[in-house]
Amino acid sequence: MASLLQELLSPQLVAVGYVFVGFIVALYVLSVVYTFIDAKRRGAEPFWVWGIVSLIPFIGLLVYVVLRPNSYIADREEQMLDMALREHQLNEYGACPNCGTTIEKDFVVCPVCNTQVRNVCPSCHRPLDAHWKVCPYCRTHIQ
Ligand SMILES: [Zn+2]
Ligand SMILES: [Zn+2]
Repeated sequence: MASLLQELLSPQLVAVGYVFVGFIVALYVLSVVYTFIDAKRRGAEPFWVWGIVSLIPFIGLLVYVVLRPNSYIADREEQMLDMALREHQLNEYGACPNCGTTIEKDFVVCPVCNTQVRNVCPSCHRPLDAHWKVCPYCRTHIQ
């Protein structure tokens, strides 16, 4: 029995065992480092991420992958910027015929050169397009 154990624990096998253990440890350290960097990029709370990943090796990483936020912070900021830009474009109506300043959809005069760019309803004072015959807000007929 003792000889069998000795045979099993040959120096080669012990070396393989050390390499295997070292590999697992390296993998574990890498998973913790990866999770920490990833959590930071996604804006997740780093302390609970650290907790689960370092207390429960590998399974903690799986739990993190399931629970982590879907997008990176940078992506989310880009999306918000995109939405703000689109909203702004919707608000734009055109350009001032006199000076080219951007006119937003509820502007009546150009804010730069005071040129009248739209009509105003005589009844409710809302801005109207030049070709509108009836105010869409209060039904007043426009001459
Ligand atoms: Zn102008
Ligand atoms: Zn009106």
